[in-house]
Amino acid sequence: MPFSSYTGEKPLIYSLTQDELKEWLVGAGDKAFRAQQIFDWLYVKRVHSFDEMTNLSKDLRQKLNETFRIDPLREITRQVSQDGTVKFLFQLADGHAIETVIMRHNYGNSVCVTTQVGCRIGCTFCASTLGGLKRNLDAGEIVAQVLMAQRKLDEEGERASHVVVMGIGEPFENFDNLIAFLRIINDNRGLNIGARHITVSTSGIVPKIYEFADKGGQVNLAISLHAPNTELRTKLMPINRGFPLEKLLEACRYYIAKTGRRISFEYGLFGGKNDQPEHAEELADLIGDMLCHVNLIPVNYVPERDYVRTPRNEIFRFKRILEERGINVTIRREHGSDIAAACGQLRAQYAKETAG
Ligand code: SF4
Repeated sequence: MPFSSYTGEKPLIYSLTQDELKEWLVGAGDKAFRAQQIFDWLYVKRVHSFDEMTNLSKDLRQKLNETFRIDPLREITRQVSQDGTVKFLFQLADGHAIETVIMRHNYGNSVCVTTQVGCRIGCTFCASTLGGLKRNLDAGEIVAQVLMAQRKLDEEGERASHVVVMGIGEPFENFDNLIAFLRIINDNRGLNIGARHITVSTSGIVPKIYEFADKGGQVNLAISLHAPNTELRTKLMPINRGFPLEKLLEACRYYIAKTGRRISFEYGLFGGKNDQPEHAEELADLIGDMLCHVNLIPVNYVPERDYVRTPRNEIFRFKRILEERGINVTIRREHGSDIAAACGQLRAQYAKETAG
């Protein structure tokens, strides 16, 4: 398997769903109900070691120590923006660096997590894909990001209420770990993040959209669309060659029918490329009949690429055209514009520094 997860000697305890933990406990000669106690220590009390789990026997604590790792990610740097956005750069056990972001909204705090070290999808506007894909994260490494963010929020008496799977990587390329991650953070004995408060974003891996509709429960789905026709989408996102727009939208309709949930289309505005009134009209023709929402994203400048920002008045013009066609639209608020907050920027900076 070229893009496997980390296979160090001991797995992270955070990779186990409560059912898997029960199975392990029974196999280890203990009681299944202890899984609840362990979840409570890990995700509610948020302890740092198995030895702190004082309602477990010494013997069980020792077995846990021998079998699992509990040490979370090592924090390399943390940047805090004036708007409260916090961007972490974490180091994994094998030395790779990943990014996690806390964003503040009026409805709560959301944590944006990474699912892969790098990415191989090759979207032309994205810094995260420049170094290719190194490996998948395992479920525990994704869970640990939410936990670390929650520990930071604990200092403020706040809670991580929402999770967005929109960080580095294509989550549907790491599907099994993604599903395990969703189960673990959704567990009401653990972090208890409601499915409707979780959003997974994909570049459009069509077969996985069907699978996600079947297995993802009420978790929200966002599609990185970025273009109103297949030619333009292929230019911006080479993945459109393998999974063309028409097939992508068919899969989206299936998700909506299956879950009854509204789908989000992410549409980055790239100056002069996809942000003109005719593009807005074409987009409305394409998705106007769907239960959907469009999130317009004024693009972040990527130093390695030649994309420029769409002027403010043109962003609003684009929005107005969609609204006049009855489509629900928002403009994504920028988070942490005074720090390296665009996806992949902090990691890319770190890679340069450590290489040089
Ligand atoms: S935008 Fe997402 S899917 Fe596309 S290359 Fe970047 S990380 Fe990968």
